[in-house]
Amino acid sequence: MQVLKFGGSSVGTTDAISKVIAIVKPRVQNTPTIIVVSAMSGVTDQLVLLAQTAAQGNEGYKTIIQSLSEKHKDAVRTLLPPSQQLKTLSIVKELIQEIETHCAELFHQSVFSLRMQDQLMSYGEILSSKIIAATFEVEGVDQEWLDSRAMIKTNSTYSSAVVDRVLTNQTIKAYFANPSNQHALYMAPGFIASDAEGHTTTLGRGGSDYTAAIFAAALSASILEIWTDVSGMMTADPRIVPNAKAIPKISYHEAMELSHFGAKIIYPPSILPVMHAHIPLWIKNTFEPEHPGTLIENASPKDDHYVRGISSIKDICLLSLEGAGMVGIPEFTKRLFDALAKKQINVILITQSSSEHSISVGVNLQDTHLAKIAVDAEFEQEINTQMLEPLIIEKELSIIALVGEQMRNQPGVSGKMFSVLGRNGINIRAIAQGSSEKNITAVIASQDERKAINVLHETFFEYTYKQVNVYIAGAGNVGGKLIEQIKKQLSYLQSTLRLKINIVGIANSKKQLINIEGIDLNHTNQHDWRDQLAAAPTGNITDYVTAILNNNLRNSIFVDVTANALVADIYAQLLSKAVAVVACNKIACSSPYAHYAKLKTLSRNYNAAFLFETNVGASLPIIGTLNDLISSGDKLNKIEAVLSGTLNFVFNNYAGGKDGKTFAKVVKQAQEEGFTEPDPRLDLGGTDVMRKILILAREAGYPLEMEAIVNESFLPAACFNGTVADFYNEMEKQEPYFKQLYDAAEAVGCKLKFIAKLESDTNGEGSAKVGLQHIQLSSDFYHLYGKDNLVLFYSDRYPELPMVIKGAGAGADVTASGVFADIIRAARV
Ligand code: ADP
Ligand code: ASP
Ligand code: MG
Repeated sequence: MQVLKFGGSSVGTTDAISKVIAIVKPRVQNTPTIIVVSAMSGVTDQLVLLAQTAAQGNEGYKTIIQSLSEKHKDAVRTLLPPSQQLKTLSIVKELIQEIETHCAELFHQSVFSLRMQDQLMSYGEILSSKIIAATFEVEGVDQEWLDSRAMIKTNSTYSSAVVDRVLTNQTIKAYFANPSNQHALYMAPGFIASDAEGHTTTLGRGGSDYTAAIFAAALSASILEIWTDVSGMMTADPRIVPNAKAIPKISYHEAMELSHFGAKIIYPPSILPVMHAHIPLWIKNTFEPEHPGTLIENASPKDDHYVRGISSIKDICLLSLEGAGMVGIPEFTKRLFDALAKKQINVILITQSSSEHSISVGVNLQDTHLAKIAVDAEFEQEINTQMLEPLIIEKELSIIALVGEQMRNQPGVSGKMFSVLGRNGINIRAIAQGSSEKNITAVIASQDERKAINVLHETFFEYTYKQVNVYIAGAGNVGGKLIEQIKKQLSYLQSTLRLKINIVGIANSKKQLINIEGIDLNHTNQHDWRDQLAAAPTGNITDYVTAILNNNLRNSIFVDVTANALVADIYAQLLSKAVAVVACNKIACSSPYAHYAKLKTLSRNYNAAFLFETNVGASLPIIGTLNDLISSGDKLNKIEAVLSGTLNFVFNNYAGGKDGKTFAKVVKQAQEEGFTEPDPRLDLGGTDVMRKILILAREAGYPLEMEAIVNESFLPAACFNGTVADFYNEMEKQEPYFKQLYDAAEAVGCKLKFIAKLESDTNGEGSAKVGLQHIQLSSDFYHLYGKDNLVLFYSDRYPELPMVIKGAGAGADVTASGVFADIIRAARV
C-alpha cells in the first residue's frame, strides 16, 4: 500500500487536478494506492465563513453557497466529458442541498456551534474527493471512494478532535482485510472523522495530512507522500524568505519540531504515526513532480547543516508569573500548568529563571483571556497576600525557532543566533532551548519576525552572499557617483566578497525613492534611478527615517552624502535601532563633544557601525589608520596636516593674479570642479578644516570642542556677508588683499598653505589651531600639488619622523569611493 495526499492547492483548480491524475495514474498499476485529498483551496475558509454568516442570521450566507456550488459544478464540467457529467453533477447538487439544509437550520436558530461548523466544513473534502473520484473513474481506474468519517474515530472536541488511534487502526485494518474491498485506488477525503455518536468531527486546520498519516500507519504503507505547492520542506517559510532552499533529507524529529514551531508545510501531528511505523515520508510538489522534494526519515543526515531549518509562529502571548514569594509556594509549577491544562490551553514554550522568581509561558493569542482568568483564580490567595503579582501579559509577540539535531554537537549556535539578532536591533523577550537541543527558540516582537527569520536564514544557510540594505540620503554630486560606483561593482562584490548590496532607498531634499526589494539600477537610460527618483513621492528626512524604521529590514545601512544638519540629526535614532550609519557629512562628528560621544556609544551598544572615513581627506585612509594606531596601543602626540583639498587647490592655482586669474576665479573653478562644499566659505573661512582637525583630535582621544580651536582665518570679514554670489563679488573686490598675501610669501621663497595642527601639551591635553602659513622649500608641505591632502602623525611609535598619508583629498569620485569603502566595512561587521 502507498498513500498519497494532495493538498488544497493541488486540487484547487481543474488544471491542478489534471496534474494530480497524471501523477497518480502510472503509480496505481503495481501498488494499491490511497489518495487523500483536501478541499479545493479556499473552500474550508469559505465554509467557516458560511457557518458564521448563517448563525448570525445573515442572509448573505446564500451567496456563499451559490459560489461554492458554481465552483464545484464548474470543476465537474471542465474535468469530465459532457456525457459523463450528469451523475457527478447530481452528487454535487445533493451535497449542496445538504449544506443548504444545515445553514437554514443555523440561520433560524441563530446559534453557532463548533459541531455545526465541523459538519459544514466536512463538505469541502467530500465535494473535492467525490469529483476527483469521478475523474479517475472516467480515466478507467478501478477505484473506490472511502468515507473517512466511518474509518477515523475521534472524541467530540469539535474543530480539533483527538483521534482514537486504537479503534481507528482496527476499523481501517478490518475494512482492508475484507477481500471484497480490494481495489487499485481508494479515494479518501482528508480532515474529517466522526465521534462515538456518529457526529462529524474535524482534525484541526491542515488536518488532511494527518488523515493520510493515519491511513499509512494503520496499513503499514510502504511510503507516504504529501503533495503540495512547494518542492519540499524548506529551510524557512518561502513566503518569508524568498531564497529559502529545499531540504533534501530531514529526520522525523526535526520535521516535527519545524512544523510544531510554525512550518505550515505539514500538520504537526501527522509525523508521529509514520515515525512509529517507520514509513518514509516524502514532501513533493504537484506542480514540479520531477523535483525530488524532501525525504523525512529516521536519521538526521550527517552533513554540515547543523541547523536544518528555521520556523516561526505569530500571535504569541507571553504570560509571566512573578513574585518574591514564589519560592515558598508549594507545587507552584504543577498548579500553574494544571490551571492551563484544565482550560485546554496549549503551552508552546516555557522559561523559568533559575532563582524561581519568575516563570513565563508562551501561548496562542486566542487563549490569553482564558489563561489570565484561570491562573489568577488558581493563585488568588497568593496574589491577595502579595506573594505573587497577578499574571503579566505581553502581546504582539512571535516565536522563532532554529531546528536541527546536530546542533547539540556544535558549540556556538545560540551565540551566533543571539548576536546576529542583537546586531539587527532585535530584542529577545524570552529564550528556551529543548534539553535535547533539537531546537533553540526565542520570543521576539511580531514586528521583528520577518527581519529575524531573514537574518537567521542568511547566517545559517546563505553561503552565496550576505545582503545589506542601503538607504542613501543625498543624490547630488557625491551621491550620484556613489550609486554609479556601486552599480558597477555589484557582481564583483557578490562573487568575491559574497556581499549583495541592495540599494533600497535614494532620497534628495525633495523626493524619496524606496523599494524594499531593491531599486533597479540597471534600467535603460530612460528609466535610470534618476528618472525613478524624479517620479518618486515627495518627503522630508523625517518621512525617510520613519520609512526606514517601519521597513525594519535586516542589515540596514544609512548613508549620508549630504552636508545637511537635519540629516546629521537622525543618526542617533537610527543607531539605536541598530541601523548602521555611514557619513561623509561632517556635521555630526563635529557637533558638541557630548553628541559625538553619544553616537559612538550607541554604535557600540547596538553593534551598528558608525563610519565616517570621508570626513577627513575623502577616501584617504586617515581615520582608519588613526584608529588602528590607537587600538594597537600607540599614542598620538601631534598631527600636522593640510586637510583642505579645496584650499590646497586654490593656493596651488593662484599666482597672485599674474596669469590673469583672480583669487575669486580660482575659487570658482574649484567649486565648478566639485572640490568645495556647497557654500565655499566653509572651506575658505577655515570652518571645514577646523571640523576635520576636531574630528581627528576626538578620534585620537582628545575630547575637544569646536570653540576651542583657534582659527587664524585669512578671509576678510566682509566675505562672510550675504549669499554665495555676494561672496564671489566681495572676493573680486578684495583681489589686492589676496595678491598681497601671495606676494609676501613669494618674496621669502615660500608657498601659502592652510595648515591644521593638533598638539598634546605636557598634561596630555590637546590643543588645535588652523591657519594660513608660509611654507618653505624644506617642508613636507611644500611639494603638495593639486587638491592633495597631507597628514603627518607624530606618535609614541613615530616620534621624529612622522607617519605620512598623502593623496587627493577632495572630489566627488574619491569621496564617493571612500563612502563606498565604508559601506563595505559596515556590511562586513
Ligand atoms: P497544502 O494545501 O498542500 O496542505 P499548505 O498551504 O498547508 O499546503 O502548506 C504548504 C505551504 O507551506 C507552502 O506553500 C509554504 O508557503 C508554507 N510553508 C511554511 N513553512 C514552510 C517550510 N519550511 N517549507 C515549505 N513550505 C513552508
Ligand atoms: N481543508 C482543511 C483546511 O483547509 C484541511 C487541509 O487542507 O488539510 O484546513
Ligand atoms: Mg496543509
